[in-house]
Amino acid sequence: MSGPLYTFFLGQVHFEEFKTFPWGERQHGIVGLYESYAEMLGTKIDAAEISATLLILTKTDIKGHFECPCGSSKRLRACCRSRIEELKSRLPAKLVARMYSKVTL
Ligand SMILES: [Zn+2]
Repeated sequence: MSGPLYTFFLGQVHFEEFKTFPWGERQHGIVGLYESYAEMLGTKIDAAEISATLLILTKTDIKGHFECPCGSSKRLRACCRSRIEELKSRLPAKLVARMYSKVTL
């Protein structure tokens, strides 16, 4: 046995023994989704910041004068530009579009 099934059963066995999951546990539903996205994007677990970050990542051309999605009210160039550019180069556009569609229901 290998892959996700193995990981699943390993987690279950650990839970049976210690009553915790070995790699932590996410909340169910939208809260867990935001926890996961915040970790991927390096944001706070904050719906507005996550949504604004994903929106900016859907742009083909990210401009320095855009308002920073972190909520600082600064321009992107004076704030989180390097993190946003790193995310833009690392996350496939299709994934970003899919993530964004999940937080804008
Ligand atoms: Zn910022």
